[in-house]
Amino acid sequence: MRIAVGGIHTECSTFNPVLSHEEDFRVLRGAALSDTPYFAFLRDYPATFLPTLHARAIPGGPVARVTYEALKQEFLDRLQQQLPIDGLYLAMHGAMYVEGMEDAEGDWISAARKLVGDDCPISVSYDLHGNVTQRIIDAIDMFSTYRTAPHIDVEETMRRSVSMLVKSLQTGVRPVVAWAPVPVVLPGERTSTEDEPAKSLYARLPGLDTTPGIWDSSLMVGYVWADEPRATAAAIFTGTDAQQLTACASQLAEAYWQAREDFVFGCETGSIEQCVSKAIASPTQPVILADSGDNPTGGGVGDRADVLAELIRQQAQGVIVAGITDAAATSAAHQAGTGVTLSLNIGASLDPASQPVLLDAQVITLLDATTPGTARQAVLRCGGILLVVADRRRPYHNLSDFHQLGLDPLQAKIVVVKSGYLSPDLAPIARPNLMALSPGVVDQFVERVPRLRKQRATFPFDKDFSYTPVVTFSARARF
Ligand SMILES: [Zn+2]
Repeated sequence: MRIAVGGIHTECSTFNPVLSHEEDFRVLRGAALSDTPYFAFLRDYPATFLPTLHARAIPGGPVARVTYEALKQEFLDRLQQQLPIDGLYLAMHGAMYVEGMEDAEGDWISAARKLVGDDCPISVSYDLHGNVTQRIIDAIDMFSTYRTAPHIDVEETMRRSVSMLVKSLQTGVRPVVAWAPVPVVLPGERTSTEDEPAKSLYARLPGLDTTPGIWDSSLMVGYVWADEPRATAAAIFTGTDAQQLTACASQLAEAYWQAREDFVFGCETGSIEQCVSKAIASPTQPVILADSGDNPTGGGVGDRADVLAELIRQQAQGVIVAGITDAAATSAAHQAGTGVTLSLNIGASLDPASQPVLLDAQVITLLDATTPGTARQAVLRCGGILLVVADRRRPYHNLSDFHQLGLDPLQAKIVVVKSGYLSPDLAPIARPNLMALSPGVVDQFVERVPRLRKQRATFPFDKDFSYTPVVTFSARARF
């Protein structure tokens, strides 16, 4: 059993002006793909997995066209070299946007289909914040997506996709994919599976998997910061029984639609000014204040200093701000050395849409890039604020990100991170968690984000319209 493996995995805000280039991707080729822990689970299957190319980038702006075309061509060349194959597994995210190209995953997956031919089963795994089109459904045979957000079931999901493919090849049974788009698209922060109503909706899926004739149940939230026609939620099912596929997909789509008004943020929210004053007044600590509009793991730029400016204005003490992407400030700190006080402009280094902050700061800690592709960083002190700057876009969502800089979030009064919902590391230590509905290219106040490419009424941009689920099968279905 010869199964080729590859894919491309990124999430792009179409509102982010900073293009993603090849150096923003971690590209695994050939043996490096097979050897990475991310794909180690494949060793548990009785199949020979043939690596092609897998490219992954931190969410961000659109992928430069030339970067995308080069990665796609190399993927196709490597796939061609692995032929003949019995099956293809693609590990995708689903919310990529390529300069001048809508439905980029549709382009990638349909190109793979064309190369491997009609007889080769293709199974894909997705992030539930991906977007889907009929072109994608028409090119595939099996589909599975994450069931948790924050994502703690990445490997489980990949295993579901691969298990279906192996089962199909072992038994000769060819399942099909059916889907029902739901005209609702909400931020991940209002659809966390830790909170209702997403918690109960996703809790239905394991039960639906056991329905006779159903192999997999998937529920997509979609990606709201993509101004593309395809940006919606969707119920997507893989199986062999047309009636059950139709019933399950329409019931799940209807349930999501009915719950649309109930999706709310899982923590207290407010303007930057409100959140900073609440954090200062908090009797408990550390307050974890999420600067949500500039969250790099949601596709934000990560270079905005709006929250920093407000912290300075309100004279906040005992604060860690981690962190702001600013290559020039990072470089100046490294040139100056620890202990030196500098006058720096912080922020708006990549996207001129925001305002930088001019401040005097003492260099406290310097950290060189540990491996190629990681960021050079510096910790600066400005009054009661310890500020982390980095020369590349990156999140600070793990405790280890702080510890390697000599910072302890537990000892801080306020920790500001560029995040939406908090990571599994930070959520348990938040006393409490506040989310600033701050401006940026992943603005959580999505109703104020333009929708120029929307082609049908979609909640929450439109409120007064009706919906009846329509289930469509993959063009590969032969019932
Ligand atoms: Zn996601």
